[in-house]
Amino acid sequence: MAIALTFSRANCGIEAPLISVETHLSNGLPAFTIVGLPEAAVKESRDRVRSAIINSHFTFPARRITVNLAPAELPKEGSRFDLAIALGILLASDQLQCDHLDQFEFIAELSLSGELRYVSGLIPALIAAEHQRSVWVAKANSEEASIPLSTPTLEASHILEVCAHLNGSHTIAPSHKKAFTLRRSPVGDLDEVAGQPLAKRALEIAAAGGHNLLLIGPPGTGKTMLASRILSITPPLSQRSALSVAAIQSLRGRQLVLDELGQKPFRAPHHTASAVAMVGGGSNPKPGEISLAHKGILFLDELPEFDRRVLEVLREPLESGRIMISRASLQVEYPAEFQLLAAMNPCPCGFFGDLQQPCQCSNQQVKRYRAKISGPLLDRIDLHVSVNRLPATLLSDKKLTAEPSEVIAKRVLHAQRQQANARGKINAQLSPNELIHATWINQETLSWLGKAIDKLDLSARAFHRILRIGRTIADLESYAKKNPQQSIPVGQHHLKEALAFRQLDKNLPN
Ligand SMILES: [Zn+2]
Repeated sequence: MAIALTFSRANCGIEAPLISVETHLSNGLPAFTIVGLPEAAVKESRDRVRSAIINSHFTFPARRITVNLAPAELPKEGSRFDLAIALGILLASDQLQCDHLDQFEFIAELSLSGELRYVSGLIPALIAAEHQRSVWVAKANSEEASIPLSTPTLEASHILEVCAHLNGSHTIAPSHKKAFTLRRSPVGDLDEVAGQPLAKRALEIAAAGGHNLLLIGPPGTGKTMLASRILSITPPLSQRSALSVAAIQSLRGRQLVLDELGQKPFRAPHHTASAVAMVGGGSNPKPGEISLAHKGILFLDELPEFDRRVLEVLREPLESGRIMISRASLQVEYPAEFQLLAAMNPCPCGFFGDLQQPCQCSNQQVKRYRAKISGPLLDRIDLHVSVNRLPATLLSDKKLTAEPSEVIAKRVLHAQRQQANARGKINAQLSPNELIHATWINQETLSWLGKAIDKLDLSARAFHRILRIGRTIADLESYAKKNPQQSIPVGQHHLKEALAFRQLDKNLPN
């Protein structure tokens, strides 16, 4: 047989399309051509494959070798196809006999001596290969190969081991699969944070309804400490979510530790982060911070200090839960279902509204500072809350010790189940139409809310946000009811509490 077909998979965002590697040997001047790869990748791959074959004591055929990687239009990084190409050549030149090669996919780089090397982005390929074929990988990819998928994986450290299995002389058993260890990230407990009852309550509501949250307060009030502790009250990832988190992690190109993958991501990029670092991209696209925060938290400290363009690109993924990145020839998509937590000072000097230190800023300066966060972005943040500084004498007060995270986490879990049962989605994702329906609000309460918004001089955009928060507050409240499974209508007292979480809607005096 002078023609062989082997399979591999490319990386295209979070997708891993199947690649057919066709190898053809023909008579003519000896040559080695690879079609369907970028030029630089072809050269490198050719050199590795040739050396690997020779150094494994096979003969490199002195014929005209054409390798075609199809479909041609898919962008491909070269190294992951090495093994599939080398095996194709061995098969086409009758140095390897195997009649069931179509049951396998091969995803590994080769060293010059024929060793199998680690490749990044293996998990999306394993997901895509489910119920299709077994996948051969390098032993160095062992952690990823053991993730809980039904795709059988076979590990080898040298191409000779793969050949021995394929020709039946030495069989390799499929890798052992392990489950993700799903647990909360090791963050501190909320009861270690003194005072701040309003901010803690905001965290609880944010965790329960998946709402985005902005903490506003002077420097040194522990905004970051508060934000990171949201992980101590939110339920751990599900196996399914852990898998999608692992798939994105796998694209970053470093070896993964299965044990760390069951934790909810918490990403806190610095305010100097570029748009590419934030949403992903580059000539060889990699997922950005928002995708690394998929199914977890994206925390932006000093929100107004971020480049305006960087904040603008967050709007679309905040709405859709994914990000499209344009490359020269096509678009790739990464998932980005993150919850946004942000923090900012109330004004440039940081002390606007502080009880102990006077603010040095004019109203104009305060307005300009706040205007750095655009209305459309602010529109996607349900909760704004003030974090105040506590007098030093109060900080050591025992009475300020609050509920431990474990207790709050139970309410949060209950509220999330309520939402899943009643509406099949979290409250943060309810559209304005769904929202009115979901609150079961009566006419009297509705007109009361209208008046309250007028009286507090809140902008009109506050209306739906307040209903949304009210829905979550009512879901949390049902935990303590006699019949906790029953969803309760949103009433005035829920909305009254919700009104406290729209700080930035308050118009400033001129
Ligand atoms: Zn100020």
